[in-house]
Amino acid sequence: MKNIILFGKPGAGKGTQAEFLKDTFNLIHISTGDVFRFNIKNETPLGVLAKGYMEKGDLVPDEVTIQMLEREVDKHLKAAGFIFDGFPRTTSQAEALDAFLTKKNMSISATLALEVSEDILVARLLNRGKDSGRADDQDEEKIRNRFAEYNKKTAPLIDFYTAQGKFHAINGEGSIDAIAEQLTTIVEQL
Ligand code: AMP
Repeated sequence: MKNIILFGKPGAGKGTQAEFLKDTFNLIHISTGDVFRFNIKNETPLGVLAKGYMEKGDLVPDEVTIQMLEREVDKHLKAAGFIFDGFPRTTSQAEALDAFLTKKNMSISATLALEVSEDILVARLLNRGKDSGRADDQDEEKIRNRFAEYNKKTAPLIDFYTAQGKFHAINGEGSIDAIAEQLTTIVEQL
């Protein structure tokens, strides 16, 4: 199995590259942000809970997010592997993911980080917000808060996965195709 974490700040290109890797390697793509947005759209109890956090650009509490992710993985246990996009975002989530996968005789193969400067990301996200209508992409203050959440809560995962020998940094400022090629080279070797 190839189980890949796509890592990076909001707007780094995780969703775009996840779609490409999913098709190339026949993997299941789980985006926690997409699952939350689906639940908000359908006004489920999970959506109602997540909405307030997401609108402000805050992280949704770990317990809720971890349970949701585990339910998504359990739907596809026969898969050739998974791409985790936007998860884990905290050390507790990473520890819970390791424990959960171990129970199922699975493990993370690699964490692939797309590195892009915050100024480029702000421009990308504001642009995306015009088309997507995503409230959290339309307001620079909310975008900066998402970066603050990342820097405080998610960045420590770089050390977490480096210690496991699984962390790969990729320059995410190049063309979509060039980045996809670099990711493919790494994933082929896993
Ligand atoms: P994304 O689509 O990955 O940019 O996520 C959008 C929003 O969904 C984030 O700003 C958080 O509010 C929420 N979210 C997505 N994934 C997670 C996660 N792993 N932990 C907590 N909140 C999350």
